[in-house]
Amino acid sequence: MLSVKGKVVVVTGANRGIGQAIAKTFWDHGAKVVCTLRQWDDAKLWMADDERSCIVEIDITDPGAPDKICEAAVDAFGRMDVLVNNAGRTYRGKDHFDEDAWSTLIPNLIAPANISNAFSKINSSGVIINIASIAAFAGVPNPTYAAAKAGLVGLTRSMAQVYPEMRINSLGVGYIHTDERGMTAKSYETRRDQVSESTILGRWGTGEEVAGACMFLASDASSYITGQCIMVDGGYSVKAV
Ligand code: NDP
Repeated sequence: MLSVKGKVVVVTGANRGIGQAIAKTFWDHGAKVVCTLRQWDDAKLWMADDERSCIVEIDITDPGAPDKICEAAVDAFGRMDVLVNNAGRTYRGKDHFDEDAWSTLIPNLIAPANISNAFSKINSSGVIINIASIAAFAGVPNPTYAAAKAGLVGLTRSMAQVYPEMRINSLGVGYIHTDERGMTAKSYETRRDQVSESTILGRWGTGEEVAGACMFLASDASSYITGQCIMVDGGYSVKAV
């Protein structure tokens, strides 16, 4: 039931961070993995360049990206079973409401929507996993990012209705520590203890723990789950005291 062996899984932003952990975990468990990335070098460090993996060099915001990603999966492995919309960014600027903030962060919503839509056209019974965030539910001081991630949760619910033959879910990911280039590298330095104390499990999560939830959602063990957002946050979102 929990097997992903032989499934063709596309992971966006697979060169580093959480995406790398997801892609590597699927590969370790026998899936055929298509990694989309903008930068080769990180991926080369971990990828076994073999008959079960391939790379698509692409910026997911490019207009042709959705079709190109799906075509690459079909060219390499004959089909596409699972899409993990992982690639995403945060905003480092000061004004979270200016044009630059919106144009940087709204692709966190639009690109997954477009890639998912292209996927639905080549496999009407596939599985989509959208990497959302606790920012979709909790107040964080990054409103544009939160709006995009909340949109992704809404998109998940609605797409699940529109495509009832597919299974489409999202993950409400909490504080994950990856590496010094990662999205949370700065907060890991400045708020490490505070975040741990606000989390029931008392610590930050790892990319592999997000990957575990993806494996579950990609496998037949979750065959009656669609339209949901599953929290992968160590209990951060439900800790009251
Ligand atoms: P990182 O910043 O470490 O990695 C982000 C990945 O997305 C990189 O591979 C990056 O590629 C890729 N990416 C971003 N924009 C694009 C683009 N336009 N085209 C192609 N690739 C792109 O972040 P994390 O690994 O921590 O986060 C992964 C996902 O998880 C994101 O969606 C994030 O919002 C979400 N998340 C993360 C949390 C955390 O605590 N870390 C918490 C909640 C959600 P490149 O290397 O080329 O920049």
